[in-house]
Parts: sequence; C-alpha cells; structure tokens
Amino acid sequence: MPPNTTVVRPDRAVVLADLLANRQWAGTPAGAWVPRAQAALAEGTMPVEHINWAIQHLVELERRPYEPIEDARYMVGARRFHCTTPTEGKWAGRTTVVEVSDRGAETLLTRDDRKHALALIRGVGPALAAERYGLNTGRCGYCHIVLNVPRSVAVGRGKKCSVDRGLPW
Ligand SMILES: [Zn+2]
Repeated sequence: MPPNTTVVRPDRAVVLADLLANRQWAGTPAGAWVPRAQAALAEGTMPVEHINWAIQHLVELERRPYEPIEDARYMVGARRFHCTTPTEGKWAGRTTVVEVSDRGAETLLTRDDRKHALALIRGVGPALAAERYGLNTGRCGYCHIVLNVPRSVAVGRGKKCSVDRGLPW
C-alpha cells in the first residue's frame, strides 16, 4: 500500500462521528468546522489523517473545560456566569458554574451545561468575557465592586484587578 493512503478504518470514523454528535460545540472554536466534518464523514470523503487529527483535537477540547478557570463573573452573548473553584475540601479543583439571569435569579448548572458554559467562556477568552461582564453590569467581574471611577467603567474592571492580571486600565 502506498503511504498516506486514505483508507478509513471504520472504528475511527465511528469514534469521530460520536464525538461530533454527542457534544455541544456551538460557540466554541470547533463550532465552525464541526458541520463540515460531519458532512465529509457522512459522504466518506474525509481522509484518515483528517479523522485522526479531528479526534485528537476534539478530545483535547473536551478536556479543557476541566482545567480550573479563575473565580470570576463572565458574560458571553447575553448569558452571565459566575465560576468558582474551591481550593480545599471535597470539591477542590472542580469548577462550579452558576448562571445568573437579568433579574438576578441563579441557576447552578449541571455537568453538560457547565462544560458548555466553560467552553463558551474559553471561546471568547476569559479576560474578555470578564470585561464584558463589567461593561454590561457596571461591576468588576473579578471582585464584584461597583465600578465608579470613569476609567474602570470604560475598561469594565477595577484598577487593582486590572493591574494584578496585567490587563489594560
Ligand atoms: Zn475588581
């Protein structure tokens, strides 16, 4: 057989089809190419190297939401999230995500919704998502103080929180 042959082992194609179908990729960096990958896979035109790359990439993306994300409030689109990761106790290292509605109602997200919310925050970038929260609510996404210095209002976070993270102020 020549090298770089495009013979697809069915098991790999099935693994990828499952990954593509069973997760919520909308709004994540993968969201743009998942539909095209699904179409190519269905047509049987996806080269095996692409299949292997896509599997590796999606598995990596799935793991990412389990990495701790800084305790802060974030906004993506019209949705607001409050993330906390305890450093001690039974839930140490596990990020909890509460979604906060316009009216202030708080909903603790369950596993899949939490993974999706964290993927959304990472898709935008945590610093930008926290900034959007500050710009939208008038409170610092990191420490939740009311922003009343004009410059803090303009950048969407307080001076100390900006400086501590090397973000513009
Ligand atoms: Zn702050």
